[in-house]
Amino acid sequence: MSANSRLRGTIEPPPLPPLPPLAPPFPFEREMVTSRERMVETQLKTRDIVDKAVLDVMRRLPRHLFVDQAMGDQAYGDNPLPIGYGQTISQPFIVAFMTQALELTKKDRVLEIGSGCGYHTAVLASLVDSVYAVELLPGLFELGRANIKKMGLKNVYQKQGDGSLGWPELAPFSAIIVAAYGSRTPRRLLEQLAPGGRLLLPLGHAQVQDLVLFRKSESNQITSQNILGCRFVPLVGG
Ligand code: SAH
Repeated sequence: MSANSRLRGTIEPPPLPPLPPLAPPFPFEREMVTSRERMVETQLKTRDIVDKAVLDVMRRLPRHLFVDQAMGDQAYGDNPLPIGYGQTISQPFIVAFMTQALELTKKDRVLEIGSGCGYHTAVLASLVDSVYAVELLPGLFELGRANIKKMGLKNVYQKQGDGSLGWPELAPFSAIIVAAYGSRTPRRLLEQLAPGGRLLLPLGHAQVQDLVLFRKSESNQITSQNILGCRFVPLVGG
């Protein structure tokens, strides 16, 4: 028998079975997609969050995995949630508003003070070059570290300590964000801001605070603007 006739007699192999559906990347992901989409539509888009990159990352990031599993189904509510040690994960709108206000680009190096469970850290890290996150409480620092690892983010550098001092060894930063309120102009943080940089933090007292956006011009002139009334926990040592 010639090679040709052997081939003619060959039976075509049956088609391969279709691939099984890809496993969702995180547990409960499918159930949470709808909640997350609703959060973006009803809490963010309706309140002047228009930055597409910010909306996109908050639509994708599994916020429920940053909080205690027992509270997972509340993670997309329009409110802060406890994360232990008397602290809270910020309301989704506040995370979006602060992130949008910083006008971030892929080139930014961002210092984040009061990183808690790491959710805002992960939002920032998805938008910029690198994030330097400082958390005072050891228990929350460990939680934040575990959560960032779980997300597989490689551009986050985390430190446990007093962030009111900034992170002078790694300064200057093109943006600085603080998630706890202070009562006076944060001179040390302004010193660690690069020319052209933005610093956003709550300033005020226990009952009344404003989110204040400082800008440093290319010639190192500082201007500031109150952009939203807010209520945060105190910055220890700030
Ligand atoms: N953005 C975080 C946490 C917000 S709560 C999240 O969404 O999970 C504010 C955080 O600031 C708390 O974790 C608190 O421990 C931290 N904090 C307060 N004072 C601090 C300080 N001086 N330095 C660093 N972190 C501080």
